[in-house]
Amino acid sequence: MTAKTSHRTWAEPYKIKMVELLHMTTRVEREKAIRDAGYNTFLLRSRDVYIDLLTDSGTSAMSDRQWAGLMRGDEAYAGSESFYRLEEVVRQYYGYRHLLPTHQGRGAEHIMSQLLIKPGDFIPGNMYFTTTRLHQELAGGKFVDVIIDEAHDTQSSHPFKGNVDLAKLDELVQEVGADCVPYISLEGNVNMAGGQPFSMENLKALHSYCREKGILIMLDATRTIENAFFIREREAAYAGKSVKSILREICDLTDGCTMSAKKDALTNIGGFFCCNDDELFQRAKNLAVIYEGLHTYGGLAGRDMEAMAQGLHEAVMEEHQAARIGQVRYLGNKLADAGIPIGLPIGSHAVFIDAKRFLPHVEQDSYPAQALAAEFYVESGVRAMERGNVSAGRDPETGNNRRPALELVRLTLPRRVYTQAHMDVVAECVVNVFQRRKQIQGLKMTFEPEYLRFFQARFEPLAKNN
Ligand SMILES: *Cc1c(COP(=O)(O)O)cnc(C)c1O
Repeated sequence: MTAKTSHRTWAEPYKIKMVELLHMTTRVEREKAIRDAGYNTFLLRSRDVYIDLLTDSGTSAMSDRQWAGLMRGDEAYAGSESFYRLEEVVRQYYGYRHLLPTHQGRGAEHIMSQLLIKPGDFIPGNMYFTTTRLHQELAGGKFVDVIIDEAHDTQSSHPFKGNVDLAKLDELVQEVGADCVPYISLEGNVNMAGGQPFSMENLKALHSYCREKGILIMLDATRTIENAFFIREREAAYAGKSVKSILREICDLTDGCTMSAKKDALTNIGGFFCCNDDELFQRAKNLAVIYEGLHTYGGLAGRDMEAMAQGLHEAVMEEHQAARIGQVRYLGNKLADAGIPIGLPIGSHAVFIDAKRFLPHVEQDSYPAQALAAEFYVESGVRAMERGNVSAGRDPETGNNRRPALELVRLTLPRRVYTQAHMDVVAECVVNVFQRRKQIQGLKMTFEPEYLRFFQARFEPLAKNN
């Protein structure tokens, strides 16, 4: 990064060519909007949102080259040129032999889970992700969390909170037998842990363990470019390496991946499944025609594949990652300096607010993070997302809320979308809500969908008791 630039800040390596006007609302309008949305920020209309930090998924600003790529898209049903361009780029940066495009990440997770999991299997992973775990369960598997303990503690400043605890993994394998563990699901920059990376050292140790036991390593590659950036920054042996070469080294130590291209890859839609094994790929292509589409488009338009190929070229650029992660840190440091309890270290895609510390008077089954996200919206029209007891759902065996250790509100930064001044507004919003935190009450759930309830659940405020 510094070799090519003379400035020292994280300033953006692009300029703005087109803008999208935002709709400003009053507090009274926002109070009505959040009530109508059942206190679930997923159910707000985007026209009622000023700064949208719901997710970094599919919300990136595409570059002029990506938009130009849309015109170049080859919409042939079979054998699209855009597919072959994407395949070449994925092979170059990720290195896997076979590529199957899918409509988004969960399409890839569905196919992979159906192919590799048999009923009664156990799938260890470095913390769950909502859709990933659900597809494992729907295929008859059981997810087992084998991330290091530090990941569940927002105050630990461990530099690699995404690491796998090999002792936990070995305990599972000893207990159920390696035959019932088809693969470990390894996520880069673990989303639910606060965007925390694994280290190359940890991956190398995992690789030798898994080779010995005959267990595959399947990467959730969604934010692995951002993970590579952290490895370069924090692991001495990688200080002089490029993000590209680190990404490739990660992939070379794994057997395949699922990818939501809506994150790292700077596109608004898309995903893929990759693997090296010929026979597995044959079976994946066969499932794809049932659920996604022919194996050379997998639920995507040719133009989407074209935008993805160009997006990947831009995503591995050092100056892109420096600005991306620099902006997240700018917001995170501002909040930390104001005394707001946030998850540390600051991750790559979001700043996570620790709702248990922010609202210690709200008990977890009254959904403090959900309540806090609603308050941020009412305060300033900033839309955040709950990542706590609502997202974690119910244990399929006991039917109880899972009550995860982490009860977080995620302020997620879309890539290349908002400015530093927007970040200042967000920080002001959080600080204002912090000052009146004692008046904030919890919520009760009034409607609960069967799957991935956080998307569509509805809530009401608990009766005010003061
Ligand atoms: C978003 C995401 C997914 C699912 O991808 P979609 O494109 O939303 O279907 C899977 N894993 C992780 C880590 C994600 O962040």
